[in-house]
Amino acid sequence: MDGPLISALHEAMTASLLQRRRLLGGVALAGASALLHRPLWAADSEPDVIVIGAGLAGLNAALLLEQFGLVVRVIEARQRVGGRLFTLDQVAGRPEAGGNQIGSSYARIVDTARRLDVMLETSGSSPLLRPDGMVYDIAGLRLSTADWAALPNHPMPPALRAMTPDRALARAIGASPLGSISAWREPAAQQFDRPLTEHLRSQGLSEEALRLMTANNSYGDKLTETSLLMMYYLQTSLAEVMKFKGPAQNVLGGNQRLPEAMARALQGQLLLGRAVTAIDAGLTVGMPAGKARATVSCADGSVHRARFVVCSLPLPAMRSIRFTPALPELHAEAVQQLRYNKITQLHLEVLRPFWESEGRLPFVWSDGPLGRVFPNDEKGNGQAQTLTIWSTGAGTKHWDKLTEAEAETLALAEMTRLFPSARGALRLAQRVCWHQDPLAGGSWANWAPGQISRFAQAVVQPHGRLHFAGEHTGFTIRGMEAAMESGERAATEILSRL
Ligand SMILES: Cc1cc2nc3c(=O)[nH]c(=O)nc-3n(C[C@H](O)[C@H](O)[C@H](O)COP(=O)(O)OP(=O)(O)OC[C@H]3O[C@@H](n4cnc5c(N)ncnc54)[C@H](O)[C@@H]3O)c2cc1C
Repeated sequence: MDGPLISALHEAMTASLLQRRRLLGGVALAGASALLHRPLWAADSEPDVIVIGAGLAGLNAALLLEQFGLVVRVIEARQRVGGRLFTLDQVAGRPEAGGNQIGSSYARIVDTARRLDVMLETSGSSPLLRPDGMVYDIAGLRLSTADWAALPNHPMPPALRAMTPDRALARAIGASPLGSISAWREPAAQQFDRPLTEHLRSQGLSEEALRLMTANNSYGDKLTETSLLMMYYLQTSLAEVMKFKGPAQNVLGGNQRLPEAMARALQGQLLLGRAVTAIDAGLTVGMPAGKARATVSCADGSVHRARFVVCSLPLPAMRSIRFTPALPELHAEAVQQLRYNKITQLHLEVLRPFWESEGRLPFVWSDGPLGRVFPNDEKGNGQAQTLTIWSTGAGTKHWDKLTEAEAETLALAEMTRLFPSARGALRLAQRVCWHQDPLAGGSWANWAPGQISRFAQAVVQPHGRLHFAGEHTGFTIRGMEAAMESGERAATEILSRL
């Protein structure tokens, strides 16, 4: 998308927001019930565009389309907006269960927050997250960072010993050869679309080193299922984020406040609690173009028609939607085959800061059930109201079959094994399992070897009157910014058809 078009979009958006603020005249609209009942003037008319999904991608697409005068209806299956942004408001300290850190280079996020009066705060660098204070729990041994680095018969090559195996993995992958942030999608990059393990084995890494690098891996249960090209894309994306040098940020009061503010800024309807089950892409033969409509059907029996539809659902969530006509072959294959990263989190409330008497930080890297443990100290003042057990990939199997009570028992037993004084100092506040959530299917797209070459173009191609957005269709910086970028692309595709 070119610069002038983005500027035009943003100018129009700002003007419209100012006008809206005047219209609303300071009326406070807060909470889901307010969102559901407003605004009345657009309630029953047929919208120009239906946006499915009220995550960042869908909401950004909807806001941009409205700035150009289109009537938009947003349909969301959950009773809340934000999707994979999810602040646990009921838990002490409001930890984030979803999207966490906002990079300083997330231009669209930062700009949208500024325009909607959503405050961002710098994530403090916490003394509880000092890498040299981390506890390693490897093969049942409790080790300090220094013990780990000096371990006899260390499985890692010397240059990779004084760090966690996931950081060692990033180092072993090496610098990305991709020339630009979006080069991962170009044909020249396809030579790298092969198993990550091939690349790692060619560097002489042992099987034990590979086992440890696989534990706590955020990009596939096994590294054979991870594309080297995706990792180069990730490295390029991180390098782009680092260029801006500023600290990572969070939204004051929780990241979910941003999609909530975006939802309040919508002029059209937002329907919560409506799961879409079928989409007809409006390819009826013989229908004059001006009259053709796409149709969206929901589980509650409601049917919605519009000139265009934006589908911003993660691919696993699209598996339960019936498309008419069927999606093109490659897109349909991507929906079935692309796996999303598994993440199970256990948010533990801290009843007593037990680590103070232990001389160790509650910051853990484990190849056992704990995976990783992070103290949530966003302010950076050395205090944490919660710890998060963050289990990914194959490690999630330790937790997923357990009941809530069994999961709490295991979590407390594992923490007490590493920190004896943690006994009685923690309780399970909430468990979140993204890959078992049918509306998400995991935390983010894990491109397996060959899948970028085969599917990356297919998942962004419009299908009749249906356009696609969502993090997996982003071109540049991964995560939240990719979601925003994809919403912008889908909106401009529709605007260019008017
Ligand atoms: C644990 C975790 C940590 C993360 N950390 C970071 C981070 O630090 N930085 C970063 O940049 N990104 C991070 N991310 C990624 C980031 O949160 C996502 O990329 C982004 O929020 C995705 O937005 P989206 O709009 O594409 O999708 P979503 O947020 O998933 O939105 C899709 C919406 O569609 C809805 N939906 C699904 N099915 C239906 C249906 N049938 N009918 C109607 N609605 C439906 C869903 O409920 C959802 O609201 C993280 C994600 C997770 C889960």
